Amino acid sequence: MAAFVKKVKPLPTTAAIPVGVIAHHGIQKQSEVAKRKDIPQGLWEKCKNCNELIFSSRKEENLQVCPKCGYHYPMTALERIDLLTDLGSFQELDPKLESVDTLKFEGVSPYVDKLRSNHEKTGLRDAVISGVTAINFIPYVLAVMDFRFLGASMGAVVGEKITRAIETATAKRLPLVIVTASGGARMYEGLISLMQMAKTSGALYRHKEAGLPYIVILTHPTTAGVTASFASLGDLILAEPGAMVGFAGRRVIEATTQAQLPDGFQTSEFLLQKGFVDRIVERKNLRAELTLCLEYFTKRCKVNKAENSPRKKKTA
Ligand SMILES: [Zn+2]
Repeated sequence: MAAFVKKVKPLPTTAAIPVGVIAHHGIQKQSEVAKRKDIPQGLWEKCKNCNELIFSSRKEENLQVCPKCGYHYPMTALERIDLLTDLGSFQELDPKLESVDTLKFEGVSPYVDKLRSNHEKTGLRDAVISGVTAINFIPYVLAVMDFRFLGASMGAVVGEKITRAIETATAKRLPLVIVTASGGARMYEGLISLMQMAKTSGALYRHKEAGLPYIVILTHPTTAGVTASFASLGDLILAEPGAMVGFAGRRVIEATTQAQLPDGFQTSEFLLQKGFVDRIVERKNLRAELTLCLEYFTKRCKVNKAENSPRKKKTA
């Protein structure tokens, strides 16, 4: 018995633990707390991609792109319109269209409540803003989706505004640009939401038949019914780096097909390799690239020469 006791290793006493370890960690924690208290809220944020601390204002100046790793954060529709149009040129189309609860949808939260709360949160009436505008004096029609409003899901109003934007471009013989972002069809509107895929695609067919160019800019994330309709139908498909673009989610596909999907599946870079995306454009270059593309297309397509560049009118 005595022999057994001797073999047991004695438990360390408090004195056995190096004093410096506790003291060091204690001091560090206190100083971290002190630092955190000193930093006003909203000044710094942690990049969700690289985990680095970044100045929020620096990110905003950098067009919502992380200055450390280049991660492209979502932009609001208004920020995007600022980026891609000449100052004061944007004339909004259908600003008063609002969704209605046709199906009287009740669920965890009624559709009317969702519409109201998303309007209050974003100031938008729905998930897309469209208008006739110009970039570097080239007139065109622009529609921009805003993911903040119900995940930029496509209901009757989104489909209708996109369709009217396309039809305006066709009637005015102008190029069309749509900046996409969407979680897919708006299931609060059931079958009506799915019908928007055919409606927008039909309008795009008539725009194409008129010999007019259509450019898509895919942003993170663009999925489901929007990918399966107007996001896939561009004459030219541009994408932002790292954007997730797909139809069904990765887990759903893996569960359905029982297949292991490759790394980078459903990213802009993967889709560029597969030929679905024509070019990946960093946001800082997007304005210049879009101008170049529109210049190229408008010289070669039957766009409205009468409404064309004011720059040309001045020099004429
Ligand atoms: Zn980062």
